[in-house]
Amino acid sequence: MADDILISSCQCGKVKCKGVGRPIVSGVCYCDDCQSGASDLEALVGASPVCEEDGGTHYLTYRDDRFECTQGADLLKAYQNKPDAPTRRMVASCCNSAMFLKFSKGHWISAYAMRFGVEKPPVEMRTQTRFRTSGLRLPDDAPSYRGFGVQLFWRLIKSRLAMMLP
Ligand SMILES: [Zn+2]
Repeated sequence: MADDILISSCQCGKVKCKGVGRPIVSGVCYCDDCQSGASDLEALVGASPVCEEDGGTHYLTYRDDRFECTQGADLLKAYQNKPDAPTRRMVASCCNSAMFLKFSKGHWISAYAMRFGVEKPPVEMRTQTRFRTSGLRLPDDAPSYRGFGVQLFWRLIKSRLAMMLP
């Protein structure tokens, strides 16, 4: 899995991104920011779904140095909930496909799993479920946390340490 490569693509194929190796985490987030971001992006003309049926957004989170836009980077357009928001949601402007999210204060990017097709890794955790409003049953295929969960922080810290090694 260490050298596995996953490619995401916008709907029309002009923009492609590449993630290398196992993501830090494959997780679904239900936080209010992700939910409002997803509904804004899904409202763009011709947009495809960003979140799951129950309102959660599935991300493959990669270290900054393990993810890149390999094609059509000039077509990426940033969306922010507020002008000074630390989170920039990058959308392929050719066909309004949400590609990934960059949190400016972190060493990671979170790629929208919807854009990876069928080969994406299974969900490992669900976070911020206290914001979940769906009447659908919460899937029990992975642990879920009302907040971010200590597991997630631990994985982010571990990945930061790994980045500093040669
Ligand atoms: Zn496109």
